[in-house]
Amino acid sequence: MPAEIIMVEGRIGRVKPVRTAIVCGSDAWLWIDAGIAGTPRDAILPALATRGLTPPARNIAVITHGDVDHFGGITELREAVPQLVTMAHALDARLMEDLDVLVAERYDRFRDEGVVLDDDRVAQLRSRAGEAVAVDVRLTGAARIDLGDGEHWRVLPAPGHSGGHVVVVSDARRHAFLGDAVMGWGVIDGEGCLLPPHYIDVLAYRSTVDLLRTLDLETMDAAHEARLTGASVDAFLAASAEAVDAIGTAVSAADAVIESDAPDRLARVCADVHARLGRWPDASPLTLADAVSAHLAQLRVGSNTHPYADGGVA
Ligand SMILES: [Zn+2]
Repeated sequence: MPAEIIMVEGRIGRVKPVRTAIVCGSDAWLWIDAGIAGTPRDAILPALATRGLTPPARNIAVITHGDVDHFGGITELREAVPQLVTMAHALDARLMEDLDVLVAERYDRFRDEGVVLDDDRVAQLRSRAGEAVAVDVRLTGAARIDLGDGEHWRVLPAPGHSGGHVVVVSDARRHAFLGDAVMGWGVIDGEGCLLPPHYIDVLAYRSTVDLLRTLDLETMDAAHEARLTGASVDAFLAASAEAVDAIGTAVSAADAVIESDAPDRLARVCADVHARLGRWPDASPLTLADAVSAHLAQLRVGSNTHPYADGGVA
């Protein structure tokens, strides 16, 4: 009998859904993400209790990436689930293992460019993160997890949203748990405001869209969307690619008209791109900072990578 998959939906803030999953294999359970601090208490553990299910002796939790809404609940899960082995990509494990590093490198990384996260938001992120997480298995490539009875899942690097994002895939089921690997045209925040897609590396994010296309999936579960099936899988992947390309085009246009030495350049490019695309009317333009910064970096690399562009010496 195929393993049962339990989908659990928690809440962040007033309205944002955060979906986590448990694949209940015959020998072991696979837990995918843990929500924010409080999600296990409020949603995951009650979902098991309602079904009268108790975790087996072997449990593996894959944390798709180092954002607080994906690892914040791990400490609570560890208390409730025997011998929970945590697994994440090494690049994101370092964010989960030190909340100061997380804030400095993930959420407040543009301080030097004049885009500063306010104290209330930092406090909110820290409380959602719960405690720092010690990651047991630090991935640097793909992994395979066997749950018994022929049920196995692959953990594949799917970077772009973060450096060490992973997705969890069953080839037999043609299903993938995406976390936030690709985000369509955006995602709502805790108050229901549509925010732009969030990525820190343009080429990696586009490659992840392509990777998901090659997997020929029938269904996908993203962390903050309802389940995608059939044609909506393709549509979501197409929207994800379209959004990056549109933001890239808008960043190029903004880059050409905003003086290169303006001290508040990042914020001005964000405002320009935000106005040009008009897709996220209620979001602050600064919610584009990661994507805009990624595209600006790519433009710089693009103009510097050809070794002989200036007749350079071999
Ligand atoms: Zn998320």
